[in-house]
Amino acid sequence: MSTTTVTYTLTESEMRKPPTPRGPLPPLFDEKVTLKNWYRFVNWPQTILLISTPFIALYGMMTTDLQTKTLIWSIIYYYATGMGITAGYHRYWSHRSYKASIPLQIVLALIGGGAIQGSIRWWSRGHRAHHRWTDTDKDPYSAHRGLIFSHFGWMIVDRPNSRLGYADIDDLKADKIVDLQHRYYPYIALFMSFAFPTLVCGLGWGDWRGGFFFSGVARLVTVHHATFCVNSLAHYLGEKTFDDRHTPRDHFITALVTFGEGYHNFHHEFPQDYRNAILFHQYDPTKWLIRICFVLGLASELKTFPSNEITKGQIYMKEQKLNEAKRRLKWGRPIQELPAITFDEFQEATKNQGEKWIMIEGIIYDVREFVQKHPGGEKYIKLGIGKDMTTAFNGAMYDHSNGARNLLSTMRVAVCRGGGEVESMKKNPEEPIYDGSAFEDKKEL
Ligand SMILES: [Zn+2]
Ligand SMILES: [Zn+2]
Repeated sequence: MSTTTVTYTLTESEMRKPPTPRGPLPPLFDEKVTLKNWYRFVNWPQTILLISTPFIALYGMMTTDLQTKTLIWSIIYYYATGMGITAGYHRYWSHRSYKASIPLQIVLALIGGGAIQGSIRWWSRGHRAHHRWTDTDKDPYSAHRGLIFSHFGWMIVDRPNSRLGYADIDDLKADKIVDLQHRYYPYIALFMSFAFPTLVCGLGWGDWRGGFFFSGVARLVTVHHATFCVNSLAHYLGEKTFDDRHTPRDHFITALVTFGEGYHNFHHEFPQDYRNAILFHQYDPTKWLIRICFVLGLASELKTFPSNEITKGQIYMKEQKLNEAKRRLKWGRPIQELPAITFDEFQEATKNQGEKWIMIEGIIYDVREFVQKHPGGEKYIKLGIGKDMTTAFNGAMYDHSNGARNLLSTMRVAVCRGGGEVESMKKNPEEPIYDGSAFEDKKEL
C-alpha cells in the first residue's frame, strides 16, 4: 500500500466549508415577553392539541381494556400515519425525492393528515426553510435553540412568519391534491386521526372505546413525538458521517423511532435522495415502503445522489477523525522550534558533558532514556552516541521499523547547524560517519 498523501487542487468554491461557528441566536420575538403579554406569543390551537392529547390518551389507557385486535390495528395505523409523514409529507412533497402516482398521493395525503401535523403545504414550507436555513434564526426549529425547542417548543410559540426564512413552495401551490388537502385539512385531520381508526375497531370487532383511545389518541401522541424526534434527536444524537457544517447526525436509535429518518446527517447533505439509510442493514422502513411502491408501479424516478460524492463526504469526515486522533499523540518537538547547535557542540556535549546524543539527518536525538530499551541491544546504540547515525539507522546497520521511526521523532532535542549529514561531514571530514561496518562480522545482526 502506498503511503503517499493524495491531494487534489480545488477552487475556493469547490472546497468544503468548515463547521459554522455556533453563536447566540437573536431573541425569539421582536417584542419583549412579559408577565402581562406572554399569552400573545403562544400558538394556542397547537398548544392545546399537544398538551391535551397525552392526558386524554393516559386517561383512556387507564380506563379501557386493550384488546389484541385493537393493539395490532393501533400499531399498523401508527406506522401508516407515521409514514404518511415520512414518505409523503417529507420525502415526496418537501423534497420531491421520487414521483408518486395519483392513488399513492391521495393515500399519503390522507394518512399523513391522520398524524395531525398541519397540511402538506404548511409542513413542507417549514421543512424546506429548515433545510435552507439549518441552525440559524430563520430555521423554524433551529437545533441551536435547544432540544425541547426543536422537539415541540417551536410549535407552542407563535412567531411571526416574517422571522422564518423564505422557502419556495410554488410547486405545492400548483399541486391539486396539496391544495385540496390544505383547504379541507381540519376535516381530513379529525376524520383520519380519530374517526377512521375508531370506525375500523368499532365496525370490525365492536371496540369503539378502545379504537378511539388506543388507535386514535394514544397512537396520535406516539406518532407526534416519534416524528418530532427528526427535528430534535436527529440533530443531537450520533455521528456526523458525511458533513460537519451543521448539527444533523446519524443514529440507529433515532432511525428506530422515526421510521428510518434517523440517518439525518446523510439526509441534510443529500436531501433529494429518497433514502436516509444507504446500507442494506440500516433501518429505514420509509425507504423500503417507497421501494415496494416502486415495484408495484405506484412510485417512479427514485432519486439517489451519486455514490462518488457520498463517498467523498464519508472520507472527508474520516480524515477529520484521523486528524483528531493524530492531534492527541506525541510527535516530538517541531523541528523548526529546536535549538541549533554546531557539530562541534554536539560532540563536545557527548564527550565531556555526559549527554547521550546521536545524530540522524542533522537532527540530534537524546537516547538517554532509551538506551536500555533498545531492542537491538544496548551496546549498539551506545556506539552511536556522538556520531552521525544516518546510514546506520537506515539500513547499513539495521533498516529500522516504522515503529522505531515514530519513536525517534519524540527524542528530538536539537538541530545541527548547517543541517544534515552532508553538512556535518563537510565540517568534520575527520569524523567517521557511522555506517555499521563495525558490526559486519557480528552474526547476530
Ligand atoms: Zn433536520
Ligand atoms: Zn428533509
